[in-house]
Amino acid sequence: MPELPEVQNVVDGLKILQDRYVEDVKVYNVNTVKNPNTSDDFEDILEGKKVLDVFRRGKYIVFQLDADYKLITHLRMTGALVVGEKEVTKYTRVGFLFSKNLAVNFNDIRRFGTMSLLHQEELYKEKGYFNLGVEPLSKEFNHRYMLGKLSSNRAIKTVILDQTIIAGLGNIYADECLFLAGIHPNRKGRELTKQEACILVDKIKLVLEKAINCGGTTFRDYKNSKGESGNFQQHLHVYGRKGQKCLLCNKGLKNSKISGRTTVFCPNCQR
Ligand SMILES: [Zn+2]
Repeated sequence: MPELPEVQNVVDGLKILQDRYVEDVKVYNVNTVKNPNTSDDFEDILEGKKVLDVFRRGKYIVFQLDADYKLITHLRMTGALVVGEKEVTKYTRVGFLFSKNLAVNFNDIRRFGTMSLLHQEELYKEKGYFNLGVEPLSKEFNHRYMLGKLSSNRAIKTVILDQTIIAGLGNIYADECLFLAGIHPNRKGRELTKQEACILVDKIKLVLEKAINCGGTTFRDYKNSKGESGNFQQHLHVYGRKGQKCLLCNKGLKNSKISGRTTVFCPNCQR
């Protein structure tokens, strides 16, 4: 699933839509549209709207439209916004035509991706978006904020995956950050020292920034809106390396399930 760096790269490629008008919309899969209730309403409200901005919030892609509307998109497993694709494929769930004849398709093989078109006052209807925590690359995400979220008995990996605490961090980058911080993913949040919390915040920022600069991580099918793959997979220390040797100490990496997610770590380097 695309995480913060991948979504950021998609958004960067969608900036081309800024200041364009939505000229035509066609919903091919009604279940992709969560709000409003009917795809007719979705198409009617969107048509004629101007795109003021495109930005990322957590793992969501947000089109800020005029008249205080937002089109909030989540790619989930296989969703992709493809710019300049005129042809409708069997995976096209929603097709858009923007002014100056620019087509954008929302393609999604597995159909878990969603789109919600909401007025500013209805944002609570998209719960996952409405309840997002701080952006990890913002000033608000600092040592004091992290320490304030560590009072629980939950495993530290569960804490940093919680989207209401940190927006956009997912399984790949959570494992990488914990490895670089030398923290065992199963440690209880409240057992972390102040120093460890500080190191973790720094590593989260470092890993996410580096991954954005690498165009994200591509395992199977993630591509940005220009069809380009990322290359951060070449820089991974633990994620996807289950059973292999630790790059730092050469001992075997272990894996376990935390919150239902496969977790890879080095029992020697992470305490
Ligand atoms: Zn190690």
